[in-house]
Amino acid sequence: MTQPETAAADELPAGAAPTLGPEDLEFDRRHIWHPYTSMNEPLPVYPVVGADGVRLELSDGRQLIDGMSSWWAAIHGYNHPHLNRALKNQADRMSHVMFGGITHQPAIDLARRLVDLSPEGLDHVFFCDSGSVAMEVAIKMAFQYWFAAGESGRSQLLTIRSGYHGDTFQAMSVCDPVTGMHEIFSDVLPKRLFAPNPRCRFGDEYNPADFAPFEKLAREHRQELAAVVLEPIVQGAGGMWFYHPRYLRQVRELCDELDLLLIADEIATGFGRSGKLFACEHAGVTPDIMAVGKALTGGYLTLAATLASGRVADGISSSRLNGGVLMHGPTYMANPLACAVGSASIDLLLSGPWKDNIERIGRGLEHGLATCRAFAGVADVRTLGAIGVVEMAEPVDVAALQAALVARGVWVRPFGRLVYLMPPYIINDSDLDALCGAVCEVVRS
Ligand SMILES: *Cc1c(COP(=O)(O)O)cnc(C)c1O
Repeated sequence: MTQPETAAADELPAGAAPTLGPEDLEFDRRHIWHPYTSMNEPLPVYPVVGADGVRLELSDGRQLIDGMSSWWAAIHGYNHPHLNRALKNQADRMSHVMFGGITHQPAIDLARRLVDLSPEGLDHVFFCDSGSVAMEVAIKMAFQYWFAAGESGRSQLLTIRSGYHGDTFQAMSVCDPVTGMHEIFSDVLPKRLFAPNPRCRFGDEYNPADFAPFEKLAREHRQELAAVVLEPIVQGAGGMWFYHPRYLRQVRELCDELDLLLIADEIATGFGRSGKLFACEHAGVTPDIMAVGKALTGGYLTLAATLASGRVADGISSSRLNGGVLMHGPTYMANPLACAVGSASIDLLLSGPWKDNIERIGRGLEHGLATCRAFAGVADVRTLGAIGVVEMAEPVDVAALQAALVARGVWVRPFGRLVYLMPPYIINDSDLDALCGAVCEVVRS
């Protein structure tokens, strides 16, 4: 049964008109915080009134080729009929219901897919709201596991530099202290152990000396360590760096030897971006705990999940402390709309030749960005999967660079010394050429 449509409801506008006037932008500037911006001197924002396929539409009618997938999320592009249908169908049945004491098909369907697809052994799923929260839950699981085991002294975390794990406090504590955007909080954050990040690139020959500082820290602090936390293979917002899979394999082996839990943050890398469904697969390792988010709903709704091994789940659950319960339960846990669109997004991905497609985009990025290597001011150009990075020698002027890119018809959001691309997987070769061409032009000047 559906609610009767009341006269009052009929009078409501069906949706915001697709225009944004100067007053709207003035209101935005005065009243709305954007990510990492000042309220007094905000960086410019571009009014977007629509998004379809691989293009964003600005209020003046200009179309921009999207190079960001809205921060790794919109892997199928925008306004996808299959995802729209999943969302609308679910909205007509049930938009939300609490998850305490209740279960529902969308949650079960998505959890099934995650258990099936994730590295072998990650059989237990905790749904939460965002990537940062998924990392909080992952870290909480590790702490609870050791409390349950009667080793409450194990409250330290070991990570590698140049990481990024989110904006909440435990997540911030394992972000790179300098590039991780949270330096000013150093006095109020727990002090974590940082090994240098691996210098061996993905695709280069491995240098075992790379691993020595990590090993030394892990051995020295094993008694106090609850877990190792890292992004597998691809370090995202902390430096856009791709490291050698052997390093990750050595981390796994050492965690096994010293009995440490391994938490893999696959929030950026999950669902194909690095060329494997999950980046851990490059090294053939299974973490004890894994966080996914971002592309989980194909960029439609905020949803993340923390997956745990049987050992972790059983350790926490067989404890007499707290009756063995995991102490977390967000209000919007396993939101049915988000779960339904998550399953639809995964089905869409797996129904096509996603791997060939990522390889095609990878070749396009490699080819399209190669000329940047010769430009003055460019320190490095690297690609992996459907990710392309131009690293500059000096920090870029974000507003100026962004304006130049928009003027050339592309949407790319540089930060720090990095201009990087991770387009939707549906991008065709000519749009990819245009995207890379615009980046090359702008980086040269
Ligand atoms: C984006 C990101 C997060 C945080 O996710 P949010 O949904 O923004 O909270 C954590 N880890 C990695 C690797 C990310 O890329």
